[in-house]
Parts: sequence; C-alpha cells; structure tokens
Amino acid sequence: MSADHLRNVAIIAHVDHGKTTLVDQLLYQSGMFRNEDLDKLAGGQHGLVMDSNDLERERGITILAKNCAVAYTTPDGEKYKINLIDTPGHADFGGEVERVLKMADGVLLVVDAFEGPMPQTRFVLGKALEHKLKPVVVVNKIDRPDARPDDVVNEVFDLLVELEADDESLDFPVIYASAKEGWASRDVDERGENMKVLYDAIIEQVPAPSPEEADATAPPQMLVTSLDYSDYVGRIAIGRVFAGTLKPGMQVTVIDRAGKHTQQRILKTLQFSGLGRVDVDHVVAGDICAIVGLDPIDIGNTIACAESPEALPVIEIDEPTLHMT
Ligand code: GDP
Repeated sequence: MSADHLRNVAIIAHVDHGKTTLVDQLLYQSGMFRNEDLDKLAGGQHGLVMDSNDLERERGITILAKNCAVAYTTPDGEKYKINLIDTPGHADFGGEVERVLKMADGVLLVVDAFEGPMPQTRFVLGKALEHKLKPVVVVNKIDRPDARPDDVVNEVFDLLVELEADDESLDFPVIYASAKEGWASRDVDERGENMKVLYDAIIEQVPAPSPEEADATAPPQMLVTSLDYSDYVGRIAIGRVFAGTLKPGMQVTVIDRAGKHTQQRILKTLQFSGLGRVDVDHVVAGDICAIVGLDPIDIGNTIACAESPEALPVIEIDEPTLHMT
C-alpha cells in the first residue's frame, strides 16, 4: 500500500468517553472481525479491544501504547489503511505521550456528548497541537437522552482556544456518533446508518505521510516507540518508520539513547492488521510497524541504516523507563 493510502491517527479521549467502543466499531464495520484469527485474538468479544490489559483497566490509565489498523475501502474501491494509535489518557507519562504522538499525522478527539471535554485530556491535546496535529472531533454518545452536543462543541472550541490552537485546528470537523449503536453523522439532528462518515473524515482530514518521508529508497530510520515481548521471538520493537525501507534479513545499526551503536540483523517485519500483526516482506516510511530480531533494543532507540546510521531526534524522557516485558 502506498503512503498516500495510509493514515496514522492518534486517539485522545477521557476515560469512559467511548474510545474502546468506537475503535471496536471501526474494526467491526471494516469487516476485520470476520477474520477468524482476529476473532480469536479479541476473545471473540467486542468491547475488550483497546483495553484488554487488566493492569491498565485497574489503574484507569493506558500504560502500554497499543496500535491497531483498520482497512477501509471507499465506495469507489480505494483501499486505505488507518493505523489507530492509542494515547495515554493521562499526563502521568509525559515522555510517553510525546513518543506516541510522534507516530501520528492527526488526532481523533473523542468527547462524551453530555460530559464534554475533561481537564485530564488537556495535556495530551496540548501536546498534539504542539506537534501540529489537526483534530477531528467526535462527539460520542449522541444517543444519550441528556446529550448536549452544541454546548460540548463550544466547550471543545474554548479548550482549543485556551491551548492556543491555530485557525485551521479551530475550524475542526465534528462527527456526531453513537459508538454503542454503531453510527455516526455529520449533522447533529440526523442519525447515521453506520460509521462511514467517520472513516471518510479521517481519510479527508488527516494528512497522509509526507511524500519526502515516504521515499522508500532513502537510508532507513525507525523510531522505537514501544516494546512488546513474546517468549517465542523475544523483544519486538514497535514504532514508525520515518525513512526508507526495512526488510527481514537486513543488517541495521541500532542507536540507543546514549548514542551507542550496535550492528544487528532484522529477523521479521510486521504490519498491524486489525487487532493483530502480519508478517510482511518489507515495511516502508510512513507506516507503523513491528520489528522482530533486535536485542538490545529499547524505547527511544533508532533503527538505522547499517552503513551510514543517523539517529532520529531523541525525545526527552521525564519518567522512569517502563519495561514492558
Ligand atoms: P473508554 O474508557 O473511553 O474506552 O470507554 P468505553 O468504550 O469502555 O465506554 C465506556 C462506557 O460508555 C461503556 O459502558 C460503554 O458501553 C458506554 N458507551 C460507549 N459509547 C457509547 C455511546 O455511543 N452511547 C452510549 N450511550 N454509551 C456509550
């Protein structure tokens, strides 16, 4: 898939405003759940997609950045891949927020149609604006009898003004949705039939990775944003490829945060697909992917070209390193 058919979107939502339900619907309506393997991964159940981690649920905050990918085909047959990036709903992990947002080209701000934007999302939203990410606002739970969508949109506007958003961001598109009932609409007084307008808003409003970045022939650079681990393959590095192409068998230089270089070989490259990951024969700039076979590897490391390695800018970390093993 070429980079112009790729969208990387970070989701910002206050706890309970319906992020999980919304992502479930986006996955479900894209047909992903019909895939048997993904069904198994999801436990055959809706509602437990983004926050299947018990620890996270217990603490009410997201400590693992989780990704999933939605395949969306427009009525005229154009196939898109939307990488959905979960953001910590909390400011406790400042460095984590920065790293996660670096993977995105736009944000989906999910707000409860009764509660409106909550102070806890301020920090992440402010960071998103600093990173020049334009928001698409989803006023969710529009089915609530006590929904007050017009006020809520005004509150979002006021919050963005407070956060010194630019004019383009203040002109945000609004989608009214009932994630629970599985529909979305551009019109506050109209009930949609499905989530189509939300997929369309993402495709239209969130920019594709830039063509300069998407030069597949440039020396590769990938920033490791999170780590996963499996007993079978060991450490799995997850992040966005910022330049070039990475392939299984490729010799790379891993540059750690102190600038130390190690020569290593990639075993596997994977892309996100639905809730799972699939082996692919290469990953290109603009995409978010997982790399198997590299150790030592850590968050904030750059996976770079073997011959002329260059580190991506280091994001300062203001919290203890999280070991996600
Ligand atoms: P998250 O914490 O943001 O991931 O929120 P969840 O997706 O877990 O939803 C929190 C609660 O809100 C659950 O009880 C959902 O069933 C409910 N919910 C989610 N979306 C909607 C919606 O569109 N309408 C209504 N009425 N409830 C919803």
